Amino acid sequence: MVIFHWFLTFTGTNDESGTWYGFWSGFGGSIPDFLLLGTIAAVYKRNKCQSCRRLVLKGGLGKVQGTHYETCRRHTTTADHDSLKEKHKKLHPEMHEHLNKGVQ
Ligand SMILES: [Zn+2]
Repeated sequence: MVIFHWFLTFTGTNDESGTWYGFWSGFGGSIPDFLLLGTIAAVYKRNKCQSCRRLVLKGGLGKVQGTHYETCRRHTTTADHDSLKEKHKKLHPEMHEHLNKGVQ
């Protein structure tokens, strides 16, 4: 790193008060917060039960066949999955058809 810094200084590319300093002390400094929130949102979106919206950890989830939905342990009954299939059919008709190709 020292050599790299020396190289930049030597070649004149290293501008200490340049764009990157302004970037990181301004907007750039809050990027990790965005990333953290984004990750939490993504984890929630991927790991929630479609019936009760509770966050479920991987392993407790049951896949609803023919959809991209997943449910918690409590919502793995045929009735739950059938109603989710209906919901999926209405909300995502194209995906539903694609996922159920050759099934029915
Ligand atoms: Zn549930």
